[in-house]
Amino acid sequence: MDSSNINYYIDAAKQSAEWHKDHLKSLKKLKFDTLAVHGIYSMQEALDFNQGSIIEPIYMSSSQAYRDSNEMEAALSYQIPTWCYSRIGNPSMYYLEGVLALLETYGSDIEASCCATSSGMSAIFSACEPFLTFDKDIHTEINFVGTCQVYGGTFQQFAVRQDQEKHIHWRKVINSNNIEEWESLIDENTRFLYGEMPSNPGLSFFDIEKVAALAHKYGIPLIIDSTVATPALFRPLTHGADIVIQSVTKTLSSSGFSVSGAVIAKKNLKLNINNDMLKADFGLYIKALPNRDIGPNISPMNAILTLNDIRTLRSKVDLMSRNTLKVAKYLETHKHIEQVDYLGLESHPLHKLASKYLVLADSEFDDIYGKKVNRYGHLMSFRVKGNAMDTRKVFDALQRIWRATDLGRIKSVATIPAISTHQQQGEEARKLADIPANLIRLCVGAEHADDTIDDLKQALTVLDGNKISVSSPMYSAGGASSARLR
Ligand SMILES: *Cc1c(COP(=O)(O)O)cnc(C)c1O
Repeated sequence: MDSSNINYYIDAAKQSAEWHKDHLKSLKKLKFDTLAVHGIYSMQEALDFNQGSIIEPIYMSSSQAYRDSNEMEAALSYQIPTWCYSRIGNPSMYYLEGVLALLETYGSDIEASCCATSSGMSAIFSACEPFLTFDKDIHTEINFVGTCQVYGGTFQQFAVRQDQEKHIHWRKVINSNNIEEWESLIDENTRFLYGEMPSNPGLSFFDIEKVAALAHKYGIPLIIDSTVATPALFRPLTHGADIVIQSVTKTLSSSGFSVSGAVIAKKNLKLNINNDMLKADFGLYIKALPNRDIGPNISPMNAILTLNDIRTLRSKVDLMSRNTLKVAKYLETHKHIEQVDYLGLESHPLHKLASKYLVLADSEFDDIYGKKVNRYGHLMSFRVKGNAMDTRKVFDALQRIWRATDLGRIKSVATIPAISTHQQQGEEARKLADIPANLIRLCVGAEHADDTIDDLKQALTVLDGNKISVSSPMYSAGGASSARLR
């Protein structure tokens, strides 16, 4: 057969699909770190297509060219693998999507696929929107049921963009560990269940297996935002969830080089939904259809930057989790601290439940541990004994911990959620989510824990009433753009 026939390309695609299937199967045997380092990029691919490049190449190209009209036709009718146009796909994105699907299903035989997006928020939108369709009767009120303790941006997307503007009702679960409460909110127009765990910044955590069973009883999917844990500690798909959201911006790309997100979904979803393609491969479905038409997929550059961070994910999460525990324990005994919230502290009411699920991947194969060990991530919060002003004073005195609305960084970062991430949702909603004005969210980085503790120690002395103020230059010394003060 020759290339004057479209089947020439389709047959070649079948052969390469076989090769890729075997390749993926062989990857399933590898350990977490090996998958994180290599992803799905193979030596064969490097030598055959990428001039031997040992690192996945950045394909900074808007589109893919075809050999002839037959190949173009086969590609654009999705009969052969193609990336076609970078709004939809691109080889650099594909490598990121491949590794995320492998890591989120690690340790199981679950098959999953991933669609990488331009941000965590667009991942949430991409995951939820396909379920929020109306049947014939557009006057039917549709809803979804989800925990109220969610990231501030998620709160706005659900409460304002969906509920207020489109009347797609967000039925809020207040106590996510009350399974009756979840169930009482579900009806025939409920399209999915949604939860964030551990939540940012409240660290709420629920028994995912029970909530997954409930979702499946009603034939609807469970969507979990697992950003704070990352697959190094927690893989919701292996505990019954159907779809996972990652704000890849955060711990997954701890360097802080990019904003990106991902939707990772199980294949062959068993749901009462009349859309076979969606159920067969949700990740591919949203990538190739809704996101093709809406346009929120990731860019190649961000995909590769993120991919580089993921290679060392497990050891970073281990280190940062240990640092966080040390910092949390220090703060717990401090005279100016009212309360410390960290799932790793035995004093936390959800410590036991979190310990059931948050386990450092492969710790049992590690020379140092040799058994399964719990790790709780690097997000914690503490409440200053005092009012909003006292809290700001402590916050303003930090000298190495950055004041930024960020988390998941290799550098320690702190914020006051009430005046930043959770400012827009108002007092009432903050009360619901338990975010008081004296709460500081702290994400501990990979610095030596003792230095991080020292920074907090000196900052807290402002409440002793004898703080010596340190003057700092207003502008940096370097850089042509910095103003010169006389
Ligand atoms: C930051 C964050 C998001 C949003 O992600 P972006 O990449 O900033 O759009 C979603 N969920 C959680 C838990 C987050 O922390």
